[in-house]
Amino acid sequence: MQTKKVRVRFAPSPTGGLHLGGVRTVLYNYLFARQHQGDFILRIEDTDQTRFVEGAEQYIYDCLNWVGLTPDESPLKGGKFGPYRQSERKPIYKQYADQLVANGQAYIAFDTPEELERMRVDFKTEQNPSPQYDRTVRNKMRNSLTLSPDEVKRLLEQGARHVIRIKMPENETIRFTDMIRGEVEFNSSLVDDKVLLKADGMPTYHLAVVVDDYLMEISHAFRGEEWLPSSPVHVLLWEYLFGLDKMPQWAHLPLILGPQGKLSKRDGAKYGFPVFAMNWTDPKTSELTEGFRERGFLPEAFINMLALLGWNDGTEQELFSKEELVEKFSIERVHSGGARFDFEKAKWFNHEWIKKLPVSSYAAAVKTYLLQKGITITDETRFEKVLELVKDRATLLPDFAEQAVFFFRAPTAWDLDAVKPKWNEAKTQFFQSVIEKFKPADWETVILESNFKEWASAAGLKPGEVLLPFRVMLVGGKFGPHVFDIAALLGREETIKRIQRFLQEV
Ligand code: GLU
Repeated sequence: MQTKKVRVRFAPSPTGGLHLGGVRTVLYNYLFARQHQGDFILRIEDTDQTRFVEGAEQYIYDCLNWVGLTPDESPLKGGKFGPYRQSERKPIYKQYADQLVANGQAYIAFDTPEELERMRVDFKTEQNPSPQYDRTVRNKMRNSLTLSPDEVKRLLEQGARHVIRIKMPENETIRFTDMIRGEVEFNSSLVDDKVLLKADGMPTYHLAVVVDDYLMEISHAFRGEEWLPSSPVHVLLWEYLFGLDKMPQWAHLPLILGPQGKLSKRDGAKYGFPVFAMNWTDPKTSELTEGFRERGFLPEAFINMLALLGWNDGTEQELFSKEELVEKFSIERVHSGGARFDFEKAKWFNHEWIKKLPVSSYAAAVKTYLLQKGITITDETRFEKVLELVKDRATLLPDFAEQAVFFFRAPTAWDLDAVKPKWNEAKTQFFQSVIEKFKPADWETVILESNFKEWASAAGLKPGEVLLPFRVMLVGGKFGPHVFDIAALLGREETIKRIQRFLQEV
């Protein structure tokens, strides 16, 4: 029974660019919140100072803005459960860690990095090639379980470096119901004694996520499946600190796979996985990466594609607007198996959305690609007509620049091989006469077409013989939309100029 107000959170660590999986988590959170008239919270999990990347938090905001999934509460927007940046909540966590120690559910560990390293070497066996700090090891280490209370007190007073670790119980079954996977259970003996509070006084993710989900009254927590192995620790912390009845419902989202299996770094570089280019070098790939936005994806297509990576509504429908997704999405219909990302399919979504949306919604983005070709748009109305005409031929936004460039710049090279072999004097004369006959009042696709064809047959030419040369004159090659639409948009003067210029060339 769900009586709590729905409150969900996206909780990224600002350590690099946002990738497909991250934005899909944002999307599922957002859809779920909107569907239940709930709140969608952005919490920045920046407690690991060693992984801090300058600019990464701003990148997250820019990203959410671009995809149009804005949180109701965030570090920027504030809200009554703030602060929303974990580094600013540092004093909150310690009392919970202390409470766990006082109750014997956690302990203080003084081991130095060298001692930990030695432990990994000394306890290594064939059966256990990478020993962890767990119930089999903890009694041989330097911690509040093995040292006398006086010694612990002395060390603490001396300011000795220490961490707080959870004391995982032995042989208990830890269970919870995952919204996607159903009943999940773990044997507590197989989980190590994870650090909860680090030597710098910052909590680790494990403590912070539980404390903050509680204090922020999170009702449902959706996160990547890589967190499933840590979930027994979180369930125990819920039980110890706040009571299991307060625990949010979990959903562990499946991995996103590449066409050949796991998405590799190489796939990332190839397909531009980050949402858009980062203005820093990604420490993980040491490359400046190009993202979906730069590749010319529309945000509408991007979220539609992401929604379907692991979910469908049970019908064949593939195109969904954000509003439809809010209505139809259900977390229970997310598959537990990995979802396969297919770049060609992503392009298909984009092409569909290019056709579906009014061209005015992406005209500004297309202008930037034309600008890269040195073309500045001044006449908006004409520009939108051009976009309308070529949009069927554009899969990604930069395709528009290729498909539309000849409307703004006359060709300077022509596919002469397509025309020359069949060129003759009759054709030269025909086009010269056409120039004479073109009247300003006839400047409309249908009239132009019927006149042109009529003049051709009067000159004893089949329309097919002169249509291709006409196209090459106007655009330079054998491509583009309906040739009379092109002429209509170019205008009479420009059309005549291009015919004349070509006649000097052929
Ligand atoms: N900070 C974690 C991450 O970036 C968040 C996981 C969660 O949503 O609980 O993966």
